[in-house]
Amino acid sequence: MKPLQQLVRPNIWQLSPYSSARDEYSGHEAHVFLDANENPYNKPYNRYPDPLQRQLKHVIAGVKQVPEDCIFLGNGSDEAIDLVYRVFCEPGRDNVVAIEPTYGMYKVCADINNVEYRPVLLDEHYQMSADKLLRACDSTTKAVWVCSPNNPSGNNMQVEEVEKLLRHFDGIVVVDEAYSDFSTVPVFRRRLSEFPNLIVLNTMSKAWGCAAIRLGMAFASKDIIGLFNKVKYPYNVNQLTQQHALEALSDRLQVEKWVKLLLQERKTMMASFTELRVCEKVYPSDANFFLAKMTDANGIYKYLVERGIIVRNRSKVRLCGNCLRITIGTKSENDELLGALREL
Ligand SMILES: *Cc1c(COP(=O)(O)O)cnc(C)c1O
Repeated sequence: MKPLQQLVRPNIWQLSPYSSARDEYSGHEAHVFLDANENPYNKPYNRYPDPLQRQLKHVIAGVKQVPEDCIFLGNGSDEAIDLVYRVFCEPGRDNVVAIEPTYGMYKVCADINNVEYRPVLLDEHYQMSADKLLRACDSTTKAVWVCSPNNPSGNNMQVEEVEKLLRHFDGIVVVDEAYSDFSTVPVFRRRLSEFPNLIVLNTMSKAWGCAAIRLGMAFASKDIIGLFNKVKYPYNVNQLTQQHALEALSDRLQVEKWVKLLLQERKTMMASFTELRVCEKVYPSDANFFLAKMTDANGIYKYLVERGIIVRNRSKVRLCGNCLRITIGTKSENDELLGALREL
């Protein structure tokens, strides 16, 4: 890996971050707060939240088995994705490389930040080749995006290929593990000390059932997390979100039950799909969704919409011709979808 200073935008490296009222007094016991121009009434919502979400990070560190100072929390993973560009990529000069097809936000954020985005096609089994990704990199490539299990294909990337990329690329490798709760493959977030150039993304939006509260996580070296903290909005995770996340994290058993149920449902759904007249192929999945190649994805999509059933039409995505992406719902939702498709 290049020295971090060489990877970070010079203006960000030199940036003195905003120092909030709540940052400055830490370490002392205080009970009179006349520092932040807050209204003293309307407790508890009158006070600014902890800008570094310390209590929440303490709990997440235990659940995710990652040191507290290696955790960044943001307004969804989307904030962390955007920060990768804002911290590392000089607009109009630097570029990033990504597996293709994958999650759409990596490219949208690249476009917003005016950073060149270089997609590298997966193979016919939706597997990545580290060598192929490395060949797309040059001296101004700052980051490579990997997603595992990948959206929309649903499969895990081969661990050896991700390791090879981490070892041979001299910039940042982001591994988005948004769906890792549904998979049994060992996670990269536990290997931060092995790979100083690794950033792992996690989210409360999927297995944890909290998409509405907008809480995403990035796990990385202390130094990278420090850069993220410098650039983020001071109070990027609001108090309501922090409170609800603490509640959700206190019931890990519930999440385990949901995951078990969803994996059972995924198995029956995938088996039922292979029996459908209108389904040509079901791709293997390590996530809470699967990809299915249909006879006529556009027609079937429209037919389902008319019945009030919405799936994701991925037929315009490269390597996903005629594919629908099906999220696993409740038993009755899944049955309704199957019932509608059996009529075709
Ligand atoms: C759903 C998803 C996310 C979650 O994004 P949030 O902003 O945390 O809701 C992140 N990455 C991938 C690949 C996803 O599919």
